[in-house]
Amino acid sequence: MSEILLHVENLKKYFPTNEKDKFVKAVDNISFDIYKGETLGVVGESGCGKSTTGRLVLNLITPTEGVVEFKGQDLTKLSRRQMRSMRRQMQIIFQDPYASLDPRKTVMQILAEPFQIHNPEMSREEIQQKVADLVKCVGLRPEHVYRYPHEFSGGQRQRVGIARAIALNPEFVVCDEPVSALDVSIQAQVINLMQDIKKEFNLTYMFISHDLRIIKHFCDRVMVMYLGNVVEIGTKEAVYEKRRHPYTQALLSAIPNVKAKGPQERILLTGDIPSPVNPPSGCPFHPRCRYCTERCKTEKPQLRTMADGTQVACHLDME
Ligand code: SF4
Repeated sequence: MSEILLHVENLKKYFPTNEKDKFVKAVDNISFDIYKGETLGVVGESGCGKSTTGRLVLNLITPTEGVVEFKGQDLTKLSRRQMRSMRRQMQIIFQDPYASLDPRKTVMQILAEPFQIHNPEMSREEIQQKVADLVKCVGLRPEHVYRYPHEFSGGQRQRVGIARAIALNPEFVVCDEPVSALDVSIQAQVINLMQDIKKEFNLTYMFISHDLRIIKHFCDRVMVMYLGNVVEIGTKEAVYEKRRHPYTQALLSAIPNVKAKGPQERILLTGDIPSPVNPPSGCPFHPRCRYCTERCKTEKPQLRTMADGTQVACHLDME
């Protein structure tokens, strides 16, 4: 798993506010790689910038600064036409399948659309056959192609969302909280489907979730975000067992029965997440960190690479 599929460097996304010269620093100078064939889990509390990161890496929104390279090509420098052709290879599965599917279209129309846009030479019969194959692949019945989104359960709708994402045989899929709107009983079915599809289509996933149990089950590596920053990134085993960053420790301590080599006690995070308009000086986590020192209040820690390859942004001595 060493071939880099997606390379992100010094990526920033600042959204303007109503106040002049004030910005929401949704993503604040992050760098990471995604390797071909892996599932990178992205985790953090809501507002940490994980969904914005997902949209930035697909070039669905324009970064304020930074580089996003997919297979060596900087997406921010592509023309619209080049980006359109690139988009076949990069897809997204949204959190809320109901909101992301056009309620006026049948499943046949929804799933035919990617082919009509990207493969206009395909005949109607060829497209219908492709749609029938897709529907089967995601576990829906042939007659479901004539139904509208409102006629499905949440789990079935997400299956349509998955079918649409894989229609053009992409290499890379961003999964943005794909099961968090579903009943717990349905979540496992959809996760299993996504795992099967990953194998069958040789996919690489960026899997965004606030649910650390799902991330543990589903992902190879984990990236922990806090207030627009990456605070820790490493293999699932290293992040979950060694839990080096104090924020990772707090997040993981809230889930019982997850094996740890570090602290086992429940760590309660006090205080709200600071505003991304006015992030704290120094370490962004310092107002809530139980290990905070004077240095943490003024000096922002950069990611440091540990002996096992995990990167951690913290001034504490750790290995
Ligand atoms: Fe806590 Fe300081 Fe480490 Fe930030 S740098 S996580 S405040 S110990």
